[in-house]
Amino acid sequence: MTFTTRFAPSPTGPLHLGHAYSAIIAHDMARAAGGRFLLRIDDLDQSRARPAWEEQIYEDLHWLGLNWDAPVRRQSEHFADYAQTLQKLRQIGLTFECNCTRRDIEAAANAPQEGVPTFGPDGRIYPGTCRALNHHRDAATCTRLNMGKAIEIADRFTFLENGSQNTGPQTPSKYHMLEQIGDVVLARRNMAASYHLSVVLDDAATNITHVVRGADLFEATPIHVLLQTLLGLPTPIYHHHNLIRDDNGKRLAKRDDARAVAALRSEGKTPQDIRALVGL
Ligand code: GLU
Repeated sequence: MTFTTRFAPSPTGPLHLGHAYSAIIAHDMARAAGGRFLLRIDDLDQSRARPAWEEQIYEDLHWLGLNWDAPVRRQSEHFADYAQTLQKLRQIGLTFECNCTRRDIEAAANAPQEGVPTFGPDGRIYPGTCRALNHHRDAATCTRLNMGKAIEIADRFTFLENGSQNTGPQTPSKYHMLEQIGDVVLARRNMAASYHLSVVLDDAATNITHVVRGADLFEATPIHVLLQTLLGLPTPIYHHHNLIRDDNGKRLAKRDDARAVAALRSEGKTPQDIRALVGL
């Protein structure tokens, strides 16, 4: 299989140094391997995605000297595929419909058991309120994965480690999946798929062999490997790179416009300066 990796920004703000770092690493790895470097536009959240930001992504990447192999995949063009897979998961009984608000989840989690974590890669770990309630889809705000059932099935594929609390992304333990991740969201009423479901389907559809992503997504990777296992999709090799931080050690966020590639460019920085700034 041809080495294939991708850069998958969301068009919801300017690309900053952290994005540049991720894109350059993925691009250079692909080129060094004689492989493919793909660009994906993660515009799942249509309430925040803007065409102008998408244009800026192309411009910034070109300016950085990165070129990608066609075609560019846009998540907004694949909502029907996501819905179809979600339906498949529903039919095999791996999901449930949930109508809890954020406040409901917080209230239910108000008396946590000692030693049991309350936050996972998706925010507060879902306390299970709607799991057995059989809500109709029309009365639900989101669809969740029933983690207990999912790991029962995944166990047959030796995806899970027994007993230990090791949290390696490719072979997490049952404990980790149940207690530290829980019933993650797969889709919302106004969103065809969650981040987790969409990236798993996109990576498979584009034959990604290597995912290059920031260490901030390390905790989300076991969810993706689990979904691949359940859906019979191949698992790529995951490379989690360190994060670019600001001078105070804080991770860069979209609002750090001063670190935006376009802002640095207009200050007169060159693509070589950007590489140097991120230590490449
Ligand atoms: N759109 C995601 C992000 O920018 C993609 C990253 C990934 O799934 O590796 O965080």
